[in-house]
Amino acid sequence: MKKVELLSPAGNYEKLETVYHYGADAAYIGGKVLNLRAFSKNFEDEELEKAIKLSHNLGKKLFITVNAIPHNEDLEILPEYTKYLESLKVDAVIVADLGVFNIIRKHTNLPITISTQASNTNWASVAMWKELGAKRIILARELSLKEISEIKQKVPDVELEVFIHGAMCISISGRCLLSNYLTGRDANRGECTQPCRWKYHLMEEKRPGEYFPVFEDERGTYIMNSKDLCTIDFLDKIIETGVDSLKIEGRMKSSYYAGVTTKVYREAIDSYYSGNLNTQNKEKWMKELQGVSHREYTSGFYLNKPGKDSQNYKTSSYIRNYKFVGKVIEKISENKYIVDVRNKIRKNDVVEIIPGTGSNITIHLNKIVDYEAGESLEEANPNQKIVIESEKPLEVGDLIRTMNISDS
Ligand code: SF4
Repeated sequence: MKKVELLSPAGNYEKLETVYHYGADAAYIGGKVLNLRAFSKNFEDEELEKAIKLSHNLGKKLFITVNAIPHNEDLEILPEYTKYLESLKVDAVIVADLGVFNIIRKHTNLPITISTQASNTNWASVAMWKELGAKRIILARELSLKEISEIKQKVPDVELEVFIHGAMCISISGRCLLSNYLTGRDANRGECTQPCRWKYHLMEEKRPGEYFPVFEDERGTYIMNSKDLCTIDFLDKIIETGVDSLKIEGRMKSSYYAGVTTKVYREAIDSYYSGNLNTQNKEKWMKELQGVSHREYTSGFYLNKPGKDSQNYKTSSYIRNYKFVGKVIEKISENKYIVDVRNKIRKNDVVEIIPGTGSNITIHLNKIVDYEAGESLEEANPNQKIVIESEKPLEVGDLIRTMNISDS
């Protein structure tokens, strides 16, 4: 049986290495043109070439987003840019606009994936894109399991991709002008400031500065503040719709988020095929997903239409149960490893190492040593390189965390 693909976000080269370390089959990244994540560190040419080399050496696929909604001025560079992507042998470009699609088809033979921004919510539009030559369609998030199964049955010979985890829009997948109106930043050009998550008050025009709370209940209201999608509880049902690829959202999120979500869904997908996708494992994975930065979780549109329970009413802040503190970057002897520090690490901290596969390793750091000076330290700060010891073998790329006691 062909295994469904696990597709992870990579906002930069380090995140790309991380998602591969934790088992992604493929990754999607933004190039420098028409990319929908203007604020993430997108890949410049040299880094893009390196990224493709890394992906293909590891037998992974790399997809490049070209999915912002373009205006006339955006089109001129497209033939040259996409020919360049073709010369690099990228595995597909992700496109939202029919004109962009047409230009790419005319100038290249690149495989094209249709972005969720194209709002494909029915089999007829999927069939049309297929007829036009698309290789894969990313379905809109606003679909139920039943609708996805129907689309697969009616249009079996085109690849389908769906989101399984990450932030949701209150509008139809990013087709929203709220950010343009309130901040002048265009969500459809990758600049969304997420004003749907803000807390809104009522102000009467003759009483400037007097803010009246809008109450949905005693806590006030975040009227458009969607919870995040999480599908670990019913991932088997999604796989059984017959889709080809399961995508994690979050190119702007941290390496830690990308790594942990990838590892959890990797284990869940593998367990599905080996018959171990059971309640006990689901509880374990859910605990891990509670440990990455997230808002409260929702099942989105998969099981039923989201109602008032799909909104966050208390806060738009992220929940963070763990603190990402470092990454193993080199093994220097049998039990000694260099760690790149990302958040303060103190001597005697109890840290958890997250290996590429298998259970986490807990270590009591009774000694931390500055890698360059060779001196024992009481604490290490971000960007410092330290040496730690572990009796159990660690791997380059393993991420390290502590419980998030302080708010950072
Ligand atoms: S403001 Fe909210 S709903 Fe609109 S595009 Fe941004 S995240 Fe999506």
